[in-house]
Amino acid sequence: MSDLKLFNSLTRQLETFQPVHPGVPGDAAKPPEARVYSCGPTVYNYQHIGNMRAYVFADTLGRVLSYKGYKLTHVINITDVGHLTSDADAGEDKMEKMAASQGKSAWDIAAFYQADFEADLARLNIRKPAHPKATEYVDAMIAWGKEIAEKHCYELDSGLYFDVSTVPEYGRLARAVTDDGEGRIEEVDGKRNKADFAIWRKTPAGETRQMEWDSPWGRGAPGWHLECSVMSKALLGMPFDIHTGGIDHREIHHPNEIAQNQAHECSGDSGARIWMHNNFLVERSGKMSKSSGEFLRLQLLIDKGFHPLAYRLMCLQAHYRSELEFSWEGLQAAFVRLKRMVMAVEKLEAKANPDWMSVPIAIQSRLKRFDDAVSDDLNTAVALTLLEGSIDASIGAHDALQMIAKMDAVLGLNLLALTRQDLRIRPKAAIITEAEIETALAQRKEARANKDFATSDRIRDDLIAKGVEVMDGDPLGWDWKLDV
Ligand code: AMP
Ligand code: ZN
Repeated sequence: MSDLKLFNSLTRQLETFQPVHPGVPGDAAKPPEARVYSCGPTVYNYQHIGNMRAYVFADTLGRVLSYKGYKLTHVINITDVGHLTSDADAGEDKMEKMAASQGKSAWDIAAFYQADFEADLARLNIRKPAHPKATEYVDAMIAWGKEIAEKHCYELDSGLYFDVSTVPEYGRLARAVTDDGEGRIEEVDGKRNKADFAIWRKTPAGETRQMEWDSPWGRGAPGWHLECSVMSKALLGMPFDIHTGGIDHREIHHPNEIAQNQAHECSGDSGARIWMHNNFLVERSGKMSKSSGEFLRLQLLIDKGFHPLAYRLMCLQAHYRSELEFSWEGLQAAFVRLKRMVMAVEKLEAKANPDWMSVPIAIQSRLKRFDDAVSDDLNTAVALTLLEGSIDASIGAHDALQMIAKMDAVLGLNLLALTRQDLRIRPKAAIITEAEIETALAQRKEARANKDFATSDRIRDDLIAKGVEVMDGDPLGWDWKLDV
């Protein structure tokens, strides 16, 4: 197998992955390990599909590591407390604000949106990571704060603050720590440096929060950055292998995590060997923003008749470090590509004998190229093309299916389980059942056979009015599509 090369945001270079825990070569009981931490969602609202791009990326990374033979431990934390409405250490707590607007408790809000997030993970075929909740680690966060308070922190009326000048090279991950960037996080009076950030936020005098704890710095809640340092060390040990997140976290959140790690571990190291960041999914009309009414979440895509794995495929078509622009046309194209693959795999399965898994695989060169692609900083776009090229009966149905199984274990499109039927999803707005569509189409076919084009057109217009677009001569043999 090729060496796995990953782009490390810390050095801005491709680096060969060297595990912190290499295991014992030749001893199957002690395999090499890969320990990965991904910044998880703040569960005060639904996730948008941009957020889900971050987890498709982290899952693909995890799948590549498993495929390379590493025993994977993957953590995605759940931020169920302490995230403010702005990047500054001021403003309302998002969780409490949502709780007030829905007339529920902050705890209920967190539980509801965590469950919704987990459902989205499953729908995108993201392998179940460990997802511990921040509220379960508050004691550990207080203990961490106590250990670094004397040398690295100072107290203000509003809480305990980290002095970024006490650690070497603060902000080296962000590179350009401009005044503009830092200016965004000032806001609190009395900070020594603009970039200083809260380790503990005291509940303002006279107020009570639903989520608050006692601490040496008064009753309040932990600062958001602290949870990732504490939870990554508790669950993965420090240093661990890879820390992931969206590109926005490269500027403030991760530099702050690194500063906390340096302070706590009394070391210049960042805490993780490799820091990886996915670029953003962008959408021009602003529908990605959670504050817009109908924002882009996975359920909306499903409501419009798309299979969620079409979105996973759309993500894989782009390199994770490239910006990806969302459009319904782009999603539709990915959906058609997925349909083609699923239908071609179904044909192969019909040809192969049922225990094709037991037939030894003959064709290795294509797998080698696949390995080269995913080892090259997760080049999923090339890997996808190789997977598609393998759905080819001319190389023998057994070999083809085995290659598809190996490749799809990495890409996670679930091609061997999905059926053509699974991909037909009725949009929420469609006012017609599948059986009615089939009946109408049969009548239309008959009308066309009789050259009764008036009837055929009437049936077609009627279907369009009900949200179904009829696609004459569709090369996929997909004679209807649900309109979006
Ligand atoms: P948040 O809940 O805002 O902390 O975001 C959860 C994850 O999604 C983080 O890793 C973010 O960096 C990432 N993220 C947020 N918006 C986008 C986007 N539009 N595209 C890709 N990743 C995003
Ligand atoms: Zn984090």
